[in-house]
Amino acid sequence: MAETTNSLPLTAPGQTPHRVMTIAGSDSGGSAGLQADMRTFAMLGVHASAAVTAVTVQNTMGVKAFHEIPVDIVAGQISAVASDIGIEAAKTGMLASAAIIRAIVATWVAEVDSTVPLVVDPVCASNVGEPLLHANALDAVRYELIPRATLVTPNLDEVRLLVGIDVVDDATQRDAAKALHALGPQWALIKGGHLRTSRISSDLLFDGSEFHQFAAARVDTRHDHGAGDTLAAAITAALAHGRSVPDAVAFGKLWVTECIRGAYPLGHGLGPVNGMVRLYR
Ligand code: PLP
Repeated sequence: MAETTNSLPLTAPGQTPHRVMTIAGSDSGGSAGLQADMRTFAMLGVHASAAVTAVTVQNTMGVKAFHEIPVDIVAGQISAVASDIGIEAAKTGMLASAAIIRAIVATWVAEVDSTVPLVVDPVCASNVGEPLLHANALDAVRYELIPRATLVTPNLDEVRLLVGIDVVDDATQRDAAKALHALGPQWALIKGGHLRTSRISSDLLFDGSEFHQFAAARVDTRHDHGAGDTLAAAITAALAHGRSVPDAVAFGKLWVTECIRGAYPLGHGLGPVNGMVRLYR
């Protein structure tokens, strides 16, 4: 049974904290992407490095455009950090193109120890459906990136794109977990948050033999931008602390649920989950 601790121990001032990396796109509106990751990592007291993959032109109304960072610069950011600061766990978010995915995988395999946890949040689109990944990059996600993942964390739209299963109930969620696990990650987490007909947000974790379920009461808010990033970042921080994958997911689920409860309106569109909610404690 997974442990359900809702905090991570802090390192004493002057001591090097655990070191994590986000490999992700920038959201100029500050709600999702690497801004959400960095905010989550800071709130959890880990040292966060960043490899920027793309810069989105974005506000609460949507994504207007994005610019991809050259592949050698994406790879160079990972190498520079791995060879000096070190990486104890990392997560990927928006990756934009197959060429960027290939550069990340090649650098990861060459320069990072194979025991370092890699959380793959297979970001395909914004929360209102604007593409953040070229359609022709899906195979690189499926067959090159996901097989390297310690954990892959798709939402239901990403599940449909990656394995062609429409999750509508517990049975199809289990089918999706099996299909996703068959692509080769150590663990697959099928997030149920987008199943809006259910009053419970239930995520299903699978390692090829055992299922673990993580449920939370659904929070009635439209402001959920950055929820996926925040969950995956909190899991990554817990993995850097040496937690097992089920413990890290249990922790991440509690963390993101608190952030969703504190979500706030922003601009004229959809606001973010409140990654800073612990400051009010
Ligand atoms: N990364 C970037 C740069 C984004 O713009 C988005 C969504 O717009 C995401 C990741 C994923 O966001 P969410 O956590 O809301 O799924």
